[in-house]
Amino acid sequence: MPRSIHIIGAGLAGLASAVQLAAQGMRALVYEATNQAGGRCRSYLDPALGIVIDNGNHLVLSGNRAALGFLDMIGARVRMFEASSASFPFIDLASGERWTIRANDGAIPWWIFDRNRRVPGTSARDYLALLRLLRAAPGATIGELLDCKGPLYERLLGPFLLAALNTEPPESSAALAGAVIRETLVAGGRSFHPLFARDGLSAAFIDPALRFLESNGGTIAFGQRLRALAFDAGHITGLDFGDASVPLSPGDAVVLAVPPVVAASLIPGLSTPTEFRAIVNAHFRLDPPAGLAPMTGVVNGMVEWLFVFPDRLSVTISGADRLLDTPREELAARIWQEVAKIAGIAGRLPPWQIVRERRATFAALPAENAKRPGARTDWNNLLLAGDWTATGLPATIEGAIRSGNRAAELIRKVT
Ligand SMILES: Cc1cc2nc3c(=O)[nH]c(=O)nc-3n(C[C@H](O)[C@H](O)[C@H](O)COP(=O)(O)OP(=O)(O)OC[C@H]3O[C@@H](n4cnc5c(N)ncnc54)[C@H](O)[C@@H]3O)c2cc1C
Repeated sequence: MPRSIHIIGAGLAGLASAVQLAAQGMRALVYEATNQAGGRCRSYLDPALGIVIDNGNHLVLSGNRAALGFLDMIGARVRMFEASSASFPFIDLASGERWTIRANDGAIPWWIFDRNRRVPGTSARDYLALLRLLRAAPGATIGELLDCKGPLYERLLGPFLLAALNTEPPESSAALAGAVIRETLVAGGRSFHPLFARDGLSAAFIDPALRFLESNGGTIAFGQRLRALAFDAGHITGLDFGDASVPLSPGDAVVLAVPPVVAASLIPGLSTPTEFRAIVNAHFRLDPPAGLAPMTGVVNGMVEWLFVFPDRLSVTISGADRLLDTPREELAARIWQEVAKIAGIAGRLPPWQIVRERRATFAALPAENAKRPGARTDWNNLLLAGDWTATGLPATIEGAIRSGNRAAELIRKVT
């Protein structure tokens, strides 16, 4: 009889664990509180628009090796559209100026020496400042190490770091920024080709993972909210789902892959991040005009990134707590004005949807980063996973999948 591993939470961290464990011949039993898998990375049929949209636009970069490894494992790499180069078009909404950053693929970044490829108004020397982030002390903020102003910051670093950290860069952890930059910008253009889930996040990351699980002896049960864990000396002995309880056999283990607030309520004395940041997405249903880049960075606007899908234009605004109380109609109208300008569209507001994820990610502050626990717990058959655990990365797909992989690895080694 193979060992049963009980995975609580069917977000990317839980699914990554489950897929790894099932591939190794263990019984991966996933329990999800809601009636849908994917957690913060999912698609759904939106009633206002009448089309399937994602809860938020998610960008993956070609240097996200765990994310790509996961897609390869579940046979879904083809569901992602990878740009053929590290090119990022930008527009400055205040001046109307447009430019495209075009990094070369190799490890030596000669693009920063070419004024037609680097950020307008910068010199190659400006980019050296990035190296300071690579050696950042755990308590340092980006603002302590970088001058958060000037063309390089305003036109590339600020937007890039805000998107990666979902927290205003000057107050954010320099170490987390350094980790992202080391694996992308500093690793050469080949590591930051953008990848998009053109047919939706669930079609790429979630549905194929569920199919993989099922064909490898795993199961997923929806509507199963874990209420309590049964603790014994150094061990978890059972799971309490309210209506049902599941006793654990010797050799069984649990991967708890739920958000931090839930984990803290289930495990006494667990340290977790407690401060969060919101992300606002606006979706407009229309046939996008031909020739728009899949993604455009926006400077001096409320819009930060514009994504193009076959049936809609979608906008991402990170660190968006300031917009949580703005009436939805007002937000839609203001964002649409900017979108029309960026996309060169005239016309009235099309059907729209605003999705506000209040707790999109933990706040990437040094103090919050310090609260992240490792995967091991005081109970040897209980492992933690989630983008908020101590992955060394900000809350991202890459971090979530790495955490799930790590928990699966420890199951083999520790329990
Ligand atoms: C709008 C938005 C945009 C984003 N953009 C990007 C991006 O561009 N690039 C990027 O890399 N990352 C992005 N992210 C971050 C990324 O989505 C997350 O890092 C990742 O999805 C987190 O996965 P997770 O498994 O750690 O957590 P979650 O997705 O939160 O999964 C936890 C799961 O546990 C379930 N659960 C909760 N309580 C219980 C319980 N008691 N019992 C059973 N199940 C329970 C939840 O329902 C959920 O399914 C974005 C996030 C948001 C919200």
